[in-house]
Amino acid sequence: MRAPYTDAEYVCSPIVSGAARPSDRPTRAEIDLHALTHNYGEVTRRIGGRKVLAVVKAQAYGHGAVPVARHLAGLGAHMFGVALVEEGSNLRDAGITTPILVIGPVFPEQAEALVGANLTPVVYTLPVAKALSDAAGNAGKAVPVHVKIDTGMGRIGVSPEEAVQFIETISKFPGIVVEGLMTHFADADLRDKKFATNQLDRFEALIGSLDKKGITIPLRHAANSAAVLEYDRALLTMVRPGLMLYGYDPLESGAAADVRPVLSLVTRIAYIKKVPAGVPISYGRTFVTKRESLIATIPIGYADGYSRGLSNRGEAIVRDKRVPVAGRVCMDMTMLDVTEVPGVAAGDEAVLIGSSGNERITADDIAAKTGTIAYEVLCGISGRVPRIIKQVQS
Ligand SMILES: *Cc1c(COP(=O)(O)O)cnc(C)c1O
Repeated sequence: MRAPYTDAEYVCSPIVSGAARPSDRPTRAEIDLHALTHNYGEVTRRIGGRKVLAVVKAQAYGHGAVPVARHLAGLGAHMFGVALVEEGSNLRDAGITTPILVIGPVFPEQAEALVGANLTPVVYTLPVAKALSDAAGNAGKAVPVHVKIDTGMGRIGVSPEEAVQFIETISKFPGIVVEGLMTHFADADLRDKKFATNQLDRFEALIGSLDKKGITIPLRHAANSAAVLEYDRALLTMVRPGLMLYGYDPLESGAAADVRPVLSLVTRIAYIKKVPAGVPISYGRTFVTKRESLIATIPIGYADGYSRGLSNRGEAIVRDKRVPVAGRVCMDMTMLDVTEVPGVAAGDEAVLIGSSGNERITADDIAAKTGTIAYEVLCGISGRVPRIIKQVQS
């Protein structure tokens, strides 16, 4: 069984307002800061003395951005990456002073808020650069920016061919300081690095052209987790890992990344009933007992991010035994067939992601059953699930 925890070992992250002391709701995402430390160490071990921009967008992939960023700042992360201005502002409000790159699109109307919160934008259009320059002027400060180059992702960014001129132009805008140059891989997770190599070639050719003009941009970065793990040539001067910090490996090759899942999703059995054979369970009666059965109800459902795609497919670990989801996952509740768990009782813990005894369920396992990726499983755990931070023992 999992080690019992005492409330004293945990504090709630402020991801949900009105959040509850740990004991108030049994459904919780437990965040293991030891694992986060380990995974951060795995990043730094692989990159020599290069800088780390830790990606904490989308509430640190569902783990809770504030406690994760605080912890990583303590470990020496040089920069954080968020998707939205609001995400960056939330970190500032929580007292995080580390530089924060807003890696998603910014609109001209957001320039003032962005500059006000001392965030670093990614730029690739003149109107946004102009709005940032104006906002910087009004605030009486300079704003550092990173220029995004689209070398093949096809999402946002200036093309390499237009980049030199773009950079020369915005460098003349008052208050704009081009501090970073970045690109993003479309498929660095594949074993075949041909396309990634082509992207990197284009990026490096641009760096060469800038050099010739005497323009040196100090922070040059491209590597997501996949590249950190399997593509050394892309490490440049800074790396941008997300997923691997949270203990998952995006690689097709499944190469031996030494990372440990940080998040466990757990709840407790609210109700148990013994029913005869032939009894339907949950909406649509898609599960009917074949034998006399013990059916447990757990207080978690798709509104918590436990996918309805796990109906009759998901599993939980109860008393160190794997048990199947019985019938459809509801909005707030799910049933488990616990017939084969000796001694099972209401109040027992049910682990939906995590390990217990010799059993383990990962976000990858869930993703395989629901046709998605660990990223979506993790950041899909909804805001109403309290994030409980397991403190680092000193
Ligand atoms: C999300 C993101 C990352 C992190 O990717 P992982 O695969 O989670 O390591 C890095 N860079 C950019 C631009 C991103 O959007």
